[in-house]
Amino acid sequence: MDLKRYIRDIPDFPKPGILFKDITPLLQSPEAFRRVIDSMASYFEGKHVDAVLAIEARGFLFGAALAYRLGKPLVPVRKQGKLPFETYAATYSLEYGNDTVEMHKDGVVAGHRVAIVDDLLATGGTMAAACRLVEKSGGQVEGLALVIELTELDGRKLLQGYDIFTLIEY
Ligand code: AMP
Repeated sequence: MDLKRYIRDIPDFPKPGILFKDITPLLQSPEAFRRVIDSMASYFEGKHVDAVLAIEARGFLFGAALAYRLGKPLVPVRKQGKLPFETYAATYSLEYGNDTVEMHKDGVVAGHRVAIVDDLLATGGTMAAACRLVEKSGGQVEGLALVIELTELDGRKLLQGYDIFTLIEY
C-alpha cells in the first residue's frame, strides 16, 4: 500500500512558506489507518513497552490506537497549561521563540519503558522534549514512532541514541 497517497500537501498553512502535511485523508481510509497502527505495533512488539506516550494533537490519534492495540497505558503530552494535575515541563526552541510541552508527574512510572508517538518528524524538537519528559520521570525511551519524516530537516540529529520508526519519508 502506498501510504503517500493518503497524505495531502497544503502549501502556506498555517503560515506562508510552510508545506503542511495533512493526514486527514489517511484517517478517512480505514485500510490506511490500520496499516499505520499495525506497522507501529509490529515495530514495538519486538521491543518491551510498558506505556505509550502520545503528543498533542495529531499524535493522540495514532498513540491512542497504538496503546489500545498493544494493551498498554496511554499517557498524553500536551501544550503548556492544558493538563490539570502536577506536571513535568520541557521547553524546546522553534524558528521564532520557544514552546513547552507537559506531562503529568504520575504519567510514567520510574523504570518503565515508553513508546512515544507523533504524526510527523520535522526538526525533532517536539520529540526531543517528549524524551526529556520521560527521562525526568525516571522512565526510559524504548522507541519513537511517527507516520511521516521530513528528512531534509534532519530531526534525527536531535534524537541521537533513540530508536526511530517512520512510515513515510519526504
Ligand atoms: P518538530 O518539533 O520540528 O519536529 O515538529 C513536529 C511537530 O510539528 C509535530 O507535532 C507535527 O505535527 C508538527 N509539524 C511540523 N511541521 C509540520 C508540517 N510540515 N506538516 C504538518 N505538521 C507539522
